[in-house]
Amino acid sequence: MKLTRLLTLSTAVLALLVCGMLAHITRDAWRRYDATSAGLQALRLTQSAMVAAEKLSFERGPVNAVLGDRIPVDPARRDRLQHGRAATDLALLQLERALQSASSQGQAGASITTMATLSSLSSQLAAARATVDQLAALPPANRTPEKMKATLGRMFALVPLALDTVTGYTQSSEHAYPRISRPLIKARYAVELREYAGRMGSVLTVALAARQPLTTEEHEQLQLLRGRIAQLRQQIQARGGDDDLQPSLAAVVTRMDQIHFGTGQQLVADVERDSRAGRPYGMDTAQFAQRYVPTMTPILALRDELLRQAQLQAQSDHEHARTDLWIVILSGAAILLALTLLLLIVRRRVVVPLLRATRAVIRIGAGDYSRDPGGSQRNDEIGDMLRALSTLRTNSIERQQLEIERQRLIEELRLRANTDYLTGILNRRAFTSAGNKRLHAAQAQNETLAVLLFDIDHFKSVNDSHGHEAGDQVLIRVAALVRAELRDSEILARHGGEEFVVMPAHCTLEQACVLAERLRTAIEREPLTLADGHILRVTASFGVASASGPAAALDSLLHAADLALYRAKRKGRNRVESAS
Ligand code: GH3
Ligand code: MG
Ligand code: MG
Repeated sequence: MKLTRLLTLSTAVLALLVCGMLAHITRDAWRRYDATSAGLQALRLTQSAMVAAEKLSFERGPVNAVLGDRIPVDPARRDRLQHGRAATDLALLQLERALQSASSQGQAGASITTMATLSSLSSQLAAARATVDQLAALPPANRTPEKMKATLGRMFALVPLALDTVTGYTQSSEHAYPRISRPLIKARYAVELREYAGRMGSVLTVALAARQPLTTEEHEQLQLLRGRIAQLRQQIQARGGDDDLQPSLAAVVTRMDQIHFGTGQQLVADVERDSRAGRPYGMDTAQFAQRYVPTMTPILALRDELLRQAQLQAQSDHEHARTDLWIVILSGAAILLALTLLLLIVRRRVVVPLLRATRAVIRIGAGDYSRDPGGSQRNDEIGDMLRALSTLRTNSIERQQLEIERQRLIEELRLRANTDYLTGILNRRAFTSAGNKRLHAAQAQNETLAVLLFDIDHFKSVNDSHGHEAGDQVLIRVAALVRAELRDSEILARHGGEEFVVMPAHCTLEQACVLAERLRTAIEREPLTLADGHILRVTASFGVASASGPAAALDSLLHAADLALYRAKRKGRNRVESAS
């Protein structure tokens, strides 16, 4: 697999893994954040529902007072009832709004049943109030204990209904965010405690209004309620969670113990005792309510403190969760950024130079030194490698130049070995080799091969009269003159001293004689100007011989030509003789 492909693939896998991990962590952080949001909302709803329940409980106080009153009703008591009802209506309105905002924020599943419960609560409340008003309109004698109980019973039934409206929300929120469940449960116990404490007061209402002793049934009811209240008190005071450690909570519990369980419960016990002893109570329903109802306030204070602490806890957890979420998101983004940068750097600083180096090595291997690999200013390992490649390229260029020089020298040497140093034409050694080759070719083609041997006449006298230098010049000029007369295919060589040999291609003896005659005439005719200005005329004698057939040999051919040359010298020089 190619390096670039491998890098792309591993980058993709790495990015996928990191993104997956980051998505997982972010989702977890988001869930925690979302759960604390849901917890906060549930707390607000619970608070609204508890306030509504409390107002419903509270409304029963003025109801008791009005029902225990004469006709016409004391306007102050009627006013208190109107105030109580207004407070309930306001609390229910606030609860409805809180539920609407909760359902608009996405908890739609719970909203349908919740709204149904709320509207049922409203209609039952209206019906209960109508019954209260009907009963209050009757003369006191006609308000039988049964009717009173039935009317109050309808009021009692409203409280759990109010609490039920938010049950769906709180349960799902407690599930999502369990930390709030403990204070919420305790707050609910406090609400229940307030409710049962209220009921205790209500049990006394009929007896106080009628100034009669409590019935056995009422005594039993009180006993039951007292047991239930004790149970709730114990559950509220039970230790085992963070909330119990709060000093403010301990203070509120102590206050509840003193005021409600001290004063309030004592008041109930006094009425019971008077009832058993058959003594007058010394107060009517309203007076009892006036003394008893305020003793329930610390229970609500406890509820509010529990809710406040839950709220604080949830708020702080919510802020923590939000901070965590931001940290996760930002660090995730930073990780992705760092990863991208790292990969880009690796690509730019390692992979791309590596590919360039690879191409450079391939080029050098193929003998192409035209481009430098570059990057030699880098001071890392890649830079070392690129510098080494650059050195390799330089060395290769030098080696290539040396090789060219060597070839040139070999060629020059070869040329020198075959060339006569003075005249620049072939020497005898080169002629022997070339002549033999041509002879073999002629034998293969079954052709005749001829040679011309010529020697400058009286050359010794040139040396003697003009000096050896001048003799050399004559040799050079004669060689050049003859070379110019010949075709490229015709071999000319210096055979030794002032003697030259010519080997024409495809030539009979007669044709060779014609050529010899032409050369002889050319030498004779051409005046040779020496360096010192002297003009010389030289002549040469020619011996021509030819051979054909498989027996032909260069030595014997030259020997025959030499004999003919000797004859030409003897016959007076400056002439052509052929071997017959
Ligand atoms: P002939 O007509 O019989 O050929 O007489 P010749 O003088 O040419 O012949 P001979 O053999 O007597 O003399 C040849 C001379 O050529 C002798 C030698 O010093 C001279 N010679 C041979 N090679 C060279 C050379 O390379 N340069 C010079 N300047 N002289 C040379
Ligand atoms: Mg000679
Ligand atoms: Mg000579």
